[in-house]
Amino acid sequence: MTLRPSQGLSYARGRMAPVPTGSGYRRQLYRDDAVVLRVQKLGESDRIITLLTRHHGRLRAVARGVRRTMSRFGARLEPFGHVDLQLAGSPEGVGSSLHSVSQVEAVALYGKQFLTDYPRYTAASAIAETAERLTPVEREPSLRLFQLTLGALKALAAGEHAGGLVLDAYLLRAMATAGWAPAIAECAVCGTPGRHAAFSVPAGGAVCPDCRPPGSAHPAPATLALMSALTAGDWPVADASESPVRRECSGLVAAHLQWHMERALRSLPLVDRRETS
Ligand SMILES: [Zn+2]
Repeated sequence: MTLRPSQGLSYARGRMAPVPTGSGYRRQLYRDDAVVLRVQKLGESDRIITLLTRHHGRLRAVARGVRRTMSRFGARLEPFGHVDLQLAGSPEGVGSSLHSVSQVEAVALYGKQFLTDYPRYTAASAIAETAERLTPVEREPSLRLFQLTLGALKALAAGEHAGGLVLDAYLLRAMATAGWAPAIAECAVCGTPGRHAAFSVPAGGAVCPDCRPPGSAHPAPATLALMSALTAGDWPVADASESPVRRECSGLVAAHLQWHMERALRSLPLVDRRETS
């Protein structure tokens, strides 16, 4: 932690201390931890950082003078890092829509570990893009999505599971937070429980013989078992799955995700699923 008691700030996360400014409204300093989703240049030395925060949802903040103060800011505000921040701005969005980063501490800079690992880098990019797309409204807290996103990047960095599996587990659970996870253990249409053989993206997942629309896919039973294991976090089953099953599962997960998103994810088709672990 870099905050000193002399700064007079509460140490409690998410608590705010009003700070008067010369611009006619009160900007507030507040603290939160966040995953860095995206970094864009703003002029010569500033950056706009897209953050998924634990308590304040997704927000964009300006990091000023990143180039001048490289040692303090720049290296910590790279994509996929978990950081502890002090931000200035109204958490409710009144006054200014863009917050500014006044302090940043690294918790874990996962991005570094993906720089030399293209498959993991592409999976991390798809995770960050999905997190951003699933939070269309800024400053709408989504603790579950924050935890999933942080957990997925941590798992990718740890390298205990194949990157493609970590990504698909993330996508399945992230879709569940949005309310449109595919049905796996029951028919998506009539709700009849059981493992059904057909899968229809437009219908919402696995479908029973009575409800099966024309054009439904018939994935291998092991593929639906893998999808179920990834959703439940059953890693021994997921890790033991074979490549063709993983490929079929990824295809269904991607198709399901794209069906529900207005625009296609840019990063998903680029994911390199060569297995490095
Ligand atoms: Zn049915």
